[in-house]
Parts: sequence; C-alpha cells; structure tokens
Amino acid sequence: MAWHFALMIDPADVDDTRSDFAATFTEVDPAAPALTVGELSTQRGDGIFESIGVIDGHPQEVEAHLSRLAHSAQLCDLPVPHAEQWRQAVALAASACGAGEAVIKLILSRGIEHGPTPTAWVTAAPAADFSIARSRGIRVVTLDRGYALDVPSRAPWLLLGAKTLSYAVNMAALREARRRGADDAIFTTSDGYVLEAPTASLILRRGDAFLTPAPNAGILHGTTQLSLFEHLAAQGFETGYETIPVAELHTVDAAWLVSSVRLAAPITAIDDVDVPMDAALTVSMNDYLLSPRD
Ligand code: PLP
Repeated sequence: MAWHFALMIDPADVDDTRSDFAATFTEVDPAAPALTVGELSTQRGDGIFESIGVIDGHPQEVEAHLSRLAHSAQLCDLPVPHAEQWRQAVALAASACGAGEAVIKLILSRGIEHGPTPTAWVTAAPAADFSIARSRGIRVVTLDRGYALDVPSRAPWLLLGAKTLSYAVNMAALREARRRGADDAIFTTSDGYVLEAPTASLILRRGDAFLTPAPNAGILHGTTQLSLFEHLAAQGFETGYETIPVAELHTVDAAWLVSSVRLAAPITAIDDVDVPMDAALTVSMNDYLLSPRD
C-alpha cells in the first residue's frame, strides 16, 4: 500500500530564534480529518503552496521552493514563513519518503475564519509515474488566459505571480486541453505572448540558446527551469528570459514543459503543428533533474 505522511505546523514568527522547531510539529494520520470547516483554504482557496520533488529521500531545490513560498506569502499579505521551521518540516517529510520519486507539499493558508493564526501543513506521498511523458513527449495547445501582458503590474491583486491554492482555473485549462485532444496547455496573453503551462514552466530552444518567458509577466518563476538553466549554462549553452510572441512557438528547434515532479517533458506538437524532439538532450536533462540537487 502507498505510504503517505502529514505534519501540522504551528507557524513560528519570522524572528523566532529557536534552533529546533520539533515542538511546533504534530504528525497526523494523513487519512484522518485534520482541518476544521472554517478553513479559508478550503472555503476560498485563500493560501499558498509549493510542491517539492523528492528523489530517493532527497528533497530537491528546497531553498528555491522556500524563497518562492516567501514571495507568494508577501504577494498574498500572509505572514512571512519562518524558513528554518519549514526547512525542518521538509526534512521530516523527506525522511518519511521511501526509495523512488515522491512529492512533498507545503501549504500555508489564511487559517480559520476569524481565527488567530494561519494554518500550515506539510505532506509527502509517492509521485505519479511520468516516465511516458518524459520519454515519448506531450502534445500541447495554446489557451488564452484572458489577460494582457501588462495586467500583473496594473492589477497586482489578481496575484498572477503567486502560487496560490486557487488552481481551479489551471485545472479547467488542463481539461480543456484534453477536450482538444492534447495532453497539456500553454497559456498565452490576450495580446499574443507566451506565458507558462497550468502546472509547469515552458522552455524553448532556438539554436544553442534556451529561453523562457520572463517571470515578471505574472507567471511563476519555476524552480526546475532555474535549476536547468544553471545546468545548461554550465555546459556552455546560452540561456535567457524574453517576451515571446505566440507566433515564435512554431519556429523553435525544441520545447519542453518543466516542473518539480514531472521534470522535463518534451513537447512534440503545439496546436497540432509538430515540434522537433531532441530525445538525447531530454534524457540528459532528466538525468540531471533526477540527480540530487540543492
Ligand atoms: N508554473 C505553474 C503555474 C506551476 O504550477 C508550476 C509548478 O507547479 C510551475 C510553473 C513550475 O514550477 P516548479 O518548477 O518550481 O515546479
């Protein structure tokens, strides 16, 4: 039977000087009820989260995930997460993971309506099997997210750059992609630029250069994309952030969706137009992503 792990966290103030946060953790039965009906994460999706890939018990890129959690908290006016407390919670969750691939989720919610503090918890569970997406690739369609490129700066309350728990729109986009016969989607702006996928970042290859849409356009700055760019740069490739018109999608030499748990899935078609797939490069990217990274 699949193993699971869940830990409730009593969030510490950011200036708490303790070195050991064990007293703030309560391990709970992941199959038993743990939240009250007043929880604003369940009522309104009012909270933030992170999903960390775990390989053979090693949690990948913990610091990058903790920085993004802090960034999302700031955008959502949630208390600053205490990095060391969350680091210790991640270590405990990782020690409950067996061999193979797993996922640790960090969740920080606004808490209980009229309650005194946010609610926070961490879970660990085996990851789904993404070997086919990694080896055979995925077909994607472009979907208009309905906002112009400048909306994130004009309307920050839309929280477009925060990893909030409100993923109903992202899940609806994935269902729409499947209705259109594809495996996944690439969101575009209403004025014709490329953004990200509902649960992944987009990386494009043009010659020896690898590019991705600039994260200031209201998309998440992917920890996998960041890590892969460092790896590619160390191999002598050029990497960069650009504002990419949708039409350019059909001129690229290769493309991938990348994320913490699925890792690098090569794109084989965009809107039914074939995209070249570099199988050998994809294997080396995933070998790197599957190696222990910090
Ligand atoms: N963009 C969105 C909307 C996501 O949900 C995710 C991951 O869940 C990503 C990008 C990729 O981020 P990461 O590589 O940190 O998993």
